[in-house]
Amino acid sequence: MLITLTTTHHPATDLGYLLRKNPTRPQSFELTFGKAHVFYPEATSERCIAALLVEVDPVALVRNRRNPSGAGGALEQYVNDRPYAASSFLSVAIAEVFGSALSGSSKERPELVETPIPLQVVLAAVPSRGGEAFLHRLFEPLGYAITVTRLPLDETFPEWDESFCYRVELAATLPLRQLLSHLYVLVPVLDNDKHYWVGDDEVGKLMRRGEGWLAAHPEREIITRRYLKHQRSLVDDALAQITNGDEPPPDANAADHALEEDAIERPISLNEQRLGSVLSAMKASGASRVLDLGCGEGRLLQLLLKEKQFTEIIGMDVSHRALEIAGERLRLDRLPAMQKERIRILHGSLIYRDERLAGYDAAAVVEVIEHLDPPRRAAFERILFECARPATIVLTTPNSEYNVKWETLPAGKFRHRDHRFEWTRAEFQSWANTTAARAGYTARFLPVGPEDAVVGAPTQMAVFTRT
Ligand code: SAH
Repeated sequence: MLITLTTTHHPATDLGYLLRKNPTRPQSFELTFGKAHVFYPEATSERCIAALLVEVDPVALVRNRRNPSGAGGALEQYVNDRPYAASSFLSVAIAEVFGSALSGSSKERPELVETPIPLQVVLAAVPSRGGEAFLHRLFEPLGYAITVTRLPLDETFPEWDESFCYRVELAATLPLRQLLSHLYVLVPVLDNDKHYWVGDDEVGKLMRRGEGWLAAHPEREIITRRYLKHQRSLVDDALAQITNGDEPPPDANAADHALEEDAIERPISLNEQRLGSVLSAMKASGASRVLDLGCGEGRLLQLLLKEKQFTEIIGMDVSHRALEIAGERLRLDRLPAMQKERIRILHGSLIYRDERLAGYDAAAVVEVIEHLDPPRRAAFERILFECARPATIVLTTPNSEYNVKWETLPAGKFRHRDHRFEWTRAEFQSWANTTAARAGYTARFLPVGPEDAVVGAPTQMAVFTRT
């Protein structure tokens, strides 16, 4: 198992102080399941690379009986992927070898512990049984740029095809302590095999290492479930602790989102047309107090603010980063007092009951629903149609039939990788009509963008009116 950590922070060799491992001296550590070696393939003030090589000794494992054998029987205890595929052994090694860095202490560079520094990690082989998409879903919400390369089963026998292992490269600017805790929790989540540690205080460890990020991660449930290896009682316990108190929800990659979708849709500036249509529908509803749910970077908020009709405007999003950008776009801190009183942005998630959303006249939900996992949709419907329950709801989503018209979009792909699904017109209308009927609304449908005779318009919009 090999992992390298690279920084270009200046001086880069500070990485040695943070990890408490001297770049000039390779070191080895005895672990109960094998050995760990730390060495630096490169250590200059411009760039410093620390490598952690973990040797798992399958025979020692059998002897220590810490890793009960699976269905594979005796042979599998000796012949398996444990020596090279990143797994809970790696987390244990990180905790043992880089323990002080993981818990955020550094004698020589205390000021660097909480400082975001540019870091790049390469995990040589990660067994993602959830495939490449799962890797993206785990790391992107934490702000990583991720590059994934699928590894062949055996380079000398290409006909054996690909393995379930990936080379994973992550890059972000963040405190080293945070990066190590992300790896500590997420590497075992990717490896769905028996975890080395299941049995002693896993919930406590998960809480400690997940502090400050797990509760806000959109995949926190699956992370918790897999980290705790599906042990129902532990999972319930952990989820209860995570969601305790003010629900701090997931942070989607909003800036990226805007860029990526823009690139595909740019030729007709669909975004502007969409916002124009939504704005018209909001105005036509006669609303004065309005919500923009999943407001992203605040483009619609900007338009709403220009309209005197809207006396109170609330933008809400799950992504802190998007809200930060929205705040800048709207110059919230520099608005004249009169304007400032009209607008507020809230952090929150559309899948958790939120009393702050009740009592408004109209809500816009623009290009949001396709970001919600289908199992979450029922919760979303309740929050929107029962809890917030505005007189008018203007909701848009891509029309998947139109995707064939985007030249840059490969067939069968969604317009953005964070889209969990995309609906045809019939699917959208069926969902909207059923939901409306159940909740005491009626739905009207409007195409947005240039309408094609066969596949329709790129965006579909429903205007729900409370009956
Ligand atoms: N309405 C904006 C942004 C669309 S992108 C626009 O049209 O420009 C989708 C947005 O939904 C992102 O900003 C994302 O952070 C947000 N989102 C995703 N899941 C959410 C949830 N559960 N609750 C609230 N917002 C969510």
